[in-house]
Amino acid sequence: MAPRTKISGEYTRISQKTAYYDLLDKLHDTPISQGTAIELVQHLAQTFQVNVGKVIFKQWHKGRAMYRTKNIILPATPKQDTRRVGFLRTGIVVHEFCHLLALQRGCRNHGEVFIKTLDELVLYVSQYQAQQQAA
Ligand SMILES: [Zn+2]
Repeated sequence: MAPRTKISGEYTRISQKTAYYDLLDKLHDTPISQGTAIELVQHLAQTFQVNVGKVIFKQWHKGRAMYRTKNIILPATPKQDTRRVGFLRTGIVVHEFCHLLALQRGCRNHGEVFIKTLDELVLYVSQYQAQQQAA
């Protein structure tokens, strides 16, 4: 297992508690286009039965899920080099979607329920992307 240093672009507590450190780190390292990010959110919404509002892109944004409107706000520019924060990557799409799914499970923070839900999504998305690449 990789050492539990903080995953760049993820919170320390989540980096320490995730069951899938390497997979989560990889998702945060994987750039994604705006179009593919929207498709991924729509796919996850359907698969996990989550009501999602709009996916909005903003420059240099850290990413946010809005609990009232169900909108997901993501960085506009896909990650291109080693930098992650402020750039669009699969990990941030999964993290922000996770807030809406965790909310359905009664969680509004980065607590145990969020981390369990994120782990479920990390495993699902990693397998889904591997299938997409093989197809
Ligand atoms: Zn968060």
